[in-house]
Amino acid sequence: MIANPSISKRSHNDWALLAGLGFILTAPPGLAAPRAGPTPNRPPIQPNAFNLLPLGSVKPAGWLRQELQIQANGLSGHLDEVWEDVGPSSGWLGGKGESWERGPYFLDGLVPLAFLTGDERLIAKAKKYVDWTIEHQQPDGWIGPAAMTDWWPNYVMLKVLTQYQEATGDPRIIPLMRKYFAFQARHLEERPLKEWAIYRWHDEVLSLIWLYNRTGDASLLDLARRMHNLGYDWEAQFADFKYKDKTAKTEGALANHGVNNSMALKAAPVWWLLTGDKKDRDAVHQMLSTLDRYHGQPFGMFSADEHYAGLDPSQGTELCAVVEAMFSLENDISVLGDPKLGDRLEKIAYNALPGTLTSDSWAHQYDQQANQVIVSVANRRWSTNGPESNLFGLQPNYGCCTANMHQGWPKLVANLWMATPDGGFAAVGYGPSEVSMPVGEGTPVTLVETTDYPFRETVSLAVKTGRSVKFPLALRIPAWATGATVAVNGAALAGVKPGEFFRVERVWKSGDAVELRFPMQVGTSTGYNNSIIVTRGPLLYSLKIGESWSELRQSGSVVDWEVYPTSPWNYALLIDPKATTSPFTVTELPVGRQPFSLEGAPVMITAQARRLPEWQIEDDSAGLLPVSPVTSKRHVETITLIPYGAAKLRIAEFPFTQN
Ligand SMILES: [Zn+2]
Repeated sequence: MIANPSISKRSHNDWALLAGLGFILTAPPGLAAPRAGPTPNRPPIQPNAFNLLPLGSVKPAGWLRQELQIQANGLSGHLDEVWEDVGPSSGWLGGKGESWERGPYFLDGLVPLAFLTGDERLIAKAKKYVDWTIEHQQPDGWIGPAAMTDWWPNYVMLKVLTQYQEATGDPRIIPLMRKYFAFQARHLEERPLKEWAIYRWHDEVLSLIWLYNRTGDASLLDLARRMHNLGYDWEAQFADFKYKDKTAKTEGALANHGVNNSMALKAAPVWWLLTGDKKDRDAVHQMLSTLDRYHGQPFGMFSADEHYAGLDPSQGTELCAVVEAMFSLENDISVLGDPKLGDRLEKIAYNALPGTLTSDSWAHQYDQQANQVIVSVANRRWSTNGPESNLFGLQPNYGCCTANMHQGWPKLVANLWMATPDGGFAAVGYGPSEVSMPVGEGTPVTLVETTDYPFRETVSLAVKTGRSVKFPLALRIPAWATGATVAVNGAALAGVKPGEFFRVERVWKSGDAVELRFPMQVGTSTGYNNSIIVTRGPLLYSLKIGESWSELRQSGSVVDWEVYPTSPWNYALLIDPKATTSPFTVTELPVGRQPFSLEGAPVMITAQARRLPEWQIEDDSAGLLPVSPVTSKRHVETITLIPYGAAKLRIAEFPFTQN
């Protein structure tokens, strides 16, 4: 209930303002529910290349809809029932239990999952924590459990609240945030940022900018600048990068920490919004290329188990780092509009994310390995992490990922589509979905994206609109998509170039159809010790290894699993340098309910290989990758590669032999 009349008034005014601008609409029958449009950056904040759409504008379809449903039926939809840390005793429900980051982490994924699936059960769950947080704001403005004094968990809760406000229009949230930030501005000197809060300042600045765009309150920008000045200087770290090898916890404390680095992928672009300085725009590319060079992994991430761990594909990458990198890249694309960042986002989302979750989404790893041949309790050569880190389970190693993993898929869906500054649609990532937005003078338009991408190379867009309306459509053409084509109503358009956004501006009418084709050739690149990495489109391919799943123990109602190989893994690909035809044969299989599963993999690539007997298991991982080219006298065999995300045991960086 809203008892405060000033809150009601503000809400009414915001609503009236939006309606006056034509953003609140009634859709004609048969169209999707009306959505508000994006909220552009308010000067002096720099304009985004693409504006984020409010949560709920993009809905999942096809296999992505099934993926979110699997998540809702899995741990994400039931975590509070099986894990005390976010259960009824949570400090974020007023209990005496966990009162730090885990409640907000859970909600940061639960809120978008609930509203994108429209699942009333999940919406009710999310509402309970959000209501508690709102109703227990202290008179001085502080939010969160009374026992908590750390700014950091509130960075996450603020992101939760902004999403919730977009999905529901809850009028309590903007006043709560204003009051909270006023509290922070008053108390930041006596209660300085500590530890995680220093290294993650940019995540709060996102919420400050969100609120500034809706209120015009300039004190929020002052606070954003103070957060930057008190926070860690990530740009300086990558201007003079010191961590070129596997590191230890003691070397950099939180600067060489994987999740911090993933979150910091947004630091420079977010700061550019406030400075307009070109060097801040460029810094994210330097950060990505530096991480690739010294710690890169073939699934688009860098190793950090828990700290930077070098190029060896037996090192680990934490699940929190995966979902945080995705969220950073989604924001970076919005700010910078660089299509390369979309390629990177898809690589992580369609490989690293499913590769570290079970296909029923009940269990996850803390650390995944690109070359992962046994999942077991063992001391691996991690920089820091413990012996349980590569188990699939409820909370292997530590429970942060258990709480934080849920945001990966739903935020990807929510950000597949953005708005161009001139009122059109931008496809920054591809996947089956539907996007709705008011266009022009306020005409509701829906685009229906039908595709089995990333398993297939065609994407179909169908326009639905009550009346003909002019708007631009910006389509990301992936850099790998040589020969990509775009056709409107059957007519091919000229000028399509890989690695760019292709813009089509015209008067669209209902029934207009856009066909995109991104030819997916099998490609190879060079990995650690001159090994070979096999890709096709956005997907990384890895050796299909027989998996024996062994129940280690029951963690409440969730099983912790070990996985043992039932077929050989130590192969060298046979790549004849003189061959004139591709050594790879592609077979497409149906895209079923769970494409990221061993039995459901929708694409198979076969290749020739020889066993490499001297390459053996060391410390429960594939031993040091032999330097290629290698020699082997074993007979030639045909091996099968499947999408990395479908394989929970795999080799993704292969030695090769030339004869
Ligand atoms: Zn984690």
